[in-house]
Amino acid sequence: YPIDIVPTGEESLQHVGEVIILKNITTFKELDVAKTNFIATVSHELKTPIASIQMGLELLNHPKTGELSENQKKLMDGIKDDSERLLRITSELLNVSQVETGNIKLFAQWSNPMPVITYALQATQLQAKQKDIELVTELDEDLPKVFIDEEKTAWVLTNFITNAIRYSPEHSQIIVRLKRNLDKLVFSVQDHGKGIDSSYKNRVFDRYFQIPGSLRTGTGLGLSISKDFIENQGGSIYVDSTLGVGSTFSFAIPIHKVGA
Ligand code: ADP
Repeated sequence: YPIDIVPTGEESLQHVGEVIILKNITTFKELDVAKTNFIATVSHELKTPIASIQMGLELLNHPKTGELSENQKKLMDGIKDDSERLLRITSELLNVSQVETGNIKLFAQWSNPMPVITYALQATQLQAKQKDIELVTELDEDLPKVFIDEEKTAWVLTNFITNAIRYSPEHSQIIVRLKRNLDKLVFSVQDHGKGIDSSYKNRVFDRYFQIPGSLRTGTGLGLSISKDFIENQGGSIYVDSTLGVGSTFSFAIPIHKVGA
């Protein structure tokens, strides 16, 4: 780094030399990999007990188990919300650790895009119902097959819809679209929620970024993982939003000719 003497009185700046700082960062890098692997293991291990908690809740909710009092129902709903949140955070941590260690494994194959929509709608319908939000679809017909990793693509769409629900008011509408635009298939989710200030639009896809004042239940990871998943498949991801009006999150997947 060039070093300049800070002028005292009338003296002008004088360049006296340079200092080069060399640091061996191997240990830090190793620690970083160890930390990321640790996160991957822990989040993977957490998935099973969370699934058991959710299964227990389903059983408790079953008519055969007996009637629950209003108070018990409220408590159950709270536990259910928390376990869903835990599952979301765990899946985000697992995905981010895979991305960081360069371990994103894509299982791409020629797929009909419709099951991606069906999966994401099924995964989010309960959350939407809890806020009386209507999920509407606008889907082009006769869409071609695309070369995608269905699971990861569905994860991204689910993440878009979950965010749309979280940042939308009750009784509003969310539109899920799948359209062909020239040589691309465009999946998009439009909400009528709080919208995003234009100065933050480019940053929402950054790792751990959360708009100041957003819901504290988030991690700031979902959209950055989504960007990795989509760009790794040769696609692009973007947002269009107006503060106070709503947001549309989209991703476009190239349509190649089968066998090309
Ligand atoms: P988080 O876990 O915080 O939701 P994300 O990566 O999914 O992390 O999103 C990053 C930030 O982008 C959020 O903290 C939120 O401020 C903003 N955001 C994401 N989706 C929406 C949306 N549909 N409407 C308004 N803001 C959104």
